[in-house]
Amino acid sequence: MSKTCDITHPLKIFKFDAIALIESPYQEKFAIPRQPNLVSAAKGRVVLIGDANNSELVRDIEQFSHLWLLFVFHGTQAQGWKPLVRPPRLGGNVKTGVLATRSTFRPNPIGMSVVKLDKVTTINKQTILHISGLDLLHGTPIVDIKPYVPYSDAIIDANAGFAQQQPEAGLSVVFSEQAQADLTQYQVIAKTPPEAKAENQYGELALLIEQVLRQDPRPAYKQGKADDKVYGMSLYDLNIQWQLTALDSVLVLNITQSSK
Ligand code: SAM
Repeated sequence: MSKTCDITHPLKIFKFDAIALIESPYQEKFAIPRQPNLVSAAKGRVVLIGDANNSELVRDIEQFSHLWLLFVFHGTQAQGWKPLVRPPRLGGNVKTGVLATRSTFRPNPIGMSVVKLDKVTTINKQTILHISGLDLLHGTPIVDIKPYVPYSDAIIDANAGFAQQQPEAGLSVVFSEQAQADLTQYQVIAKTPPEAKAENQYGELALLIEQVLRQDPRPAYKQGKADDKVYGMSLYDLNIQWQLTALDSVLVLNITQSSK
C-alpha cells in the first residue's frame, strides 16, 4: 500500500518570482474574453524580466506554435477567494465549486492560458515572445511558460461538463459613421495592407473590436436581454463606446483616446 502524505511536511509555502510581464491590449477586466483563442486579433507580448530575461531560456521555443502561460490573477488577488462561485457559463446565478471552474477567485490565484506564439525577438538584450489570442490583463505576471503539446494536452473526447461547447459568439457588430471616421483617424481600418499593420501600434483594431464585442462582454445576467445602456471598454489607450441596437446586434458609437 502506498504511504499517505505527511501533511505536517514543512514545504507548504512556495515563493516564485515572476519571470515575465504581459503587455496586452486589455487595460481593464471588462471585455476581456473569458478564455484564450476566442479573440484571435488580440496581440500581446510576454516581456521576460530579471534573470529570466536571457534568450537562452527560449532557445528552440519557436518550434512550438502554442504555449501555456501560467500566471497570477494579480488584478483580483486582493479580493481573496470563495469555495463557491457563479460561473458566467451557467448564467451567473448557479453556485459551483471554485475548483470546478476557471474562476479568478481561487485559493491560489493562478491562471493558465494557451496562446499562439507568433515570433520571438531579442533586441538590446530584451527578449520578448510575441503572442496572440490572449485573455490576459495588461501587466499580468507570468510565473512559468511551457510548450503546448497536443498529443498529451488535447483530449478530443474529454467531457467538459457545463463548458462542453465554445460560447456562442452571436452578436453582429456594426461601426457607426463616427466610429469609422475614428478608425481612419487612427489609421487602423481592417483593410490596412499587412506591411502597414506591422507599423501600427493598434494592430488590426477594427477586427479586435469586432471579435471582442461579438462575445457580448456584458455580465452574464444581461446576456440575451434588451439593454439601452451605452458601454465603454478600454483597448490599448483607446476608449470604445458601444450600445446594443437589437438582441443580436451591437453598434460601435465612437473611439477616442483616453486622457492620460
Ligand atoms: N484562461 C485562464 C484560466 O483558465 O486560468 C483565465 C480564465 S479567467 C475565467 C479569464 C478572465 O480572467 C478574463 O476574462 C479576465 O477578466 C480575467 N483576467 C485576466 N487576466 C487577469 C489578471 N491578471 N488578474 C485578474 N483577472 C484577470
